[in-house]
Amino acid sequence: MIQTSCEKCVFAEFDDQAQIGCRLGRIQKFVKQGTAVRLVEEAERPYCVIDGLCMACRRSDGDWAAASTPDNYADRVRSEMRLRLHVVVPVSEGDTIEDVVKTVDSLEKQTLPPRCVRIPVYGKHISPAALDSRFRDLGPSLVWKLHVLTEPATCNEAIDIALKPVDPRECLYYSVFKPGFMVPRTFVADLDHAINEDLTRFLVLTPNAAGQGLTVQLGLYRSIGGNSPAWRDIEGKKSIDATAVEDKIRLMCEEDGRLDMIKKVEELCPDLA
Ligand code: SF4
Repeated sequence: MIQTSCEKCVFAEFDDQAQIGCRLGRIQKFVKQGTAVRLVEEAERPYCVIDGLCMACRRSDGDWAAASTPDNYADRVRSEMRLRLHVVVPVSEGDTIEDVVKTVDSLEKQTLPPRCVRIPVYGKHISPAALDSRFRDLGPSLVWKLHVLTEPATCNEAIDIALKPVDPRECLYYSVFKPGFMVPRTFVADLDHAINEDLTRFLVLTPNAAGQGLTVQLGLYRSIGGNSPAWRDIEGKKSIDATAVEDKIRLMCEEDGRLDMIKKVEELCPDLA
């Protein structure tokens, strides 16, 4: 299990005797979320160890701390932790250029922009050149990429192709919105707040009633083979358990007794309710 020690962290607060807290208030938030935090009492100056990853931990004796003054540490770490989200807008036969533009436009207007919007086009009815020319008018704040599929594909296959080049170190989660939907302006900011301020943990956010907003942790998506069929050996016979990534994660969470790691997207982003 990953653990984080506060001992050398620039944000750890100590009195003469022991650690008394965290300048970012994260210890109380971890405890509130049910994460175990213990005090290493046998140390000369007792400090806390968290049963999980604290993304804000920065060593006081390293290059990071030396690169700026302590009054900048909190702003700097918050900016480094900002949610790195890719959004996939899969375009199928029934979608029009106006549908796609409407959704991508709403992503451009996010109060916190996504890292990248990926648009796999898997029908022949829309000319990628026509979409490309429409997106050229978008502001520079939005990074977008068109993925033109030459072979017929399902929606999930198109999503897999669009996510193939994405490095999990550059993207923590991805979300999926279907064309024609206007993504609420604070969607990315709400997710960022839930993850970085409330320390909400999840592996997948299930879509709302309109099928919008599926959000998945990219590292896990990669490790379980995305939306490709999952094979499991049952009494010597191979069988497919699930294909869609959210179904695979549900099976995993059921087996591990961790269904709490599956949440509804509207729990974190109320405007999607
Ligand atoms: S930022 Fe994290 S590691 Fe650092 S003191 Fe606070 S809780 Fe501990």
